[in-house]
Amino acid sequence: MSNYFALLSEKDGIRSGVLKTRAGEVRTPTFMPDGTRGAVKGVTPEMVRETGVQVVLANTYHLHLQPGEDTVAKLGGLHEFSKQTLPMLTDSGGFQVFSLAHINKITEEGVTFKDPKTGSTVFLSPEKSIQIQMKLGADMMVAFDDVTALDDKGRNRTKEAFDRTHRWLERSLAEFQHLTRDMDPDERPLLFGVVQGGLDKDLRKKSLEIVQSLPVDGIAIGGLSVGESREEMHDMLAYLAPLYDDSPRPRFLLGVGDPIDLRFAIEHGIDMLDCVLPTRNARHATAWVTGDEKIHLTNAKYADDTGVIDPGCDCTTCRGGYSKGFLRHQFKVGETLAGTLVSVHNIRYLQRICEDYLS
Ligand SMILES: [Zn+2]
Repeated sequence: MSNYFALLSEKDGIRSGVLKTRAGEVRTPTFMPDGTRGAVKGVTPEMVRETGVQVVLANTYHLHLQPGEDTVAKLGGLHEFSKQTLPMLTDSGGFQVFSLAHINKITEEGVTFKDPKTGSTVFLSPEKSIQIQMKLGADMMVAFDDVTALDDKGRNRTKEAFDRTHRWLERSLAEFQHLTRDMDPDERPLLFGVVQGGLDKDLRKKSLEIVQSLPVDGIAIGGLSVGESREEMHDMLAYLAPLYDDSPRPRFLLGVGDPIDLRFAIEHGIDMLDCVLPTRNARHATAWVTGDEKIHLTNAKYADDTGVIDPGCDCTTCRGGYSKGFLRHQFKVGETLAGTLVSVHNIRYLQRICEDYLS
């Protein structure tokens, strides 16, 4: 796809832009909820669209293991499968392999691991990850990286894993170019390369230089929000901000979605972010309200509270008048509806933050 990303404004490092994908245009900055297994947990695709978000993320690892990319393809691909019309982004599967699976072997070729559910042996490589994402029908995809480099957040890391990540990026890119070579430029998905390097600034700088030197469509920042302190994460984002080149490519920060971090990232040049936090918090009865405060809806003080979660919020849950007293009761008796209603609110909360930065 040519001219797929354009900045409408850039002021004090804050960018507002338009990303053209084959499934439609995306205004950035934008928050992307995680539809881990093909659906945002507990929220229908229609409700997701009503929150104003522009992109939904799906997990390559989970969909590969169950139901498998061939089944998703037979059911029409991600959009038809999930009935989500918004542009869809798949991750590489690498993060889940390295954090959830029992790894048998990592070689230059790829990673062999055991499916945690069935115990069967699964192999994932840069080529395989791209092939799976293509079959799923993603509009945006992410290159497969060696996430062992994250284990110690930059300290005592093996240089081998760091270097392998970049060799794997070149292999991901080659496979991507091979599989998309006959596609109309406007029908081609977009590929993001991932910058790693933990909390080591020299490695991060080098990784960013390598990723930016390649003809990837977007720059993804991985390996943050994996256990380091907020100060450490912010320090790295601030360090990277002046190091991005001038190429018109979107910047995607993986796995970050706390309101305070979202604002900080956007104010340091990030265009796209994804996180499971809004829906996970919602299922645990936690909602964000004006001022980035968190309230816990199971608290006894809300038992007879007739007010909505946040009177300043325009989400369908708050506009619908659902009281904190009602939501508390639903949580208390284990009704899943409460998690759904609060998920909608939390997703909208993050999207409203993004909309504040649109030019
Ligand atoms: Zn709301």
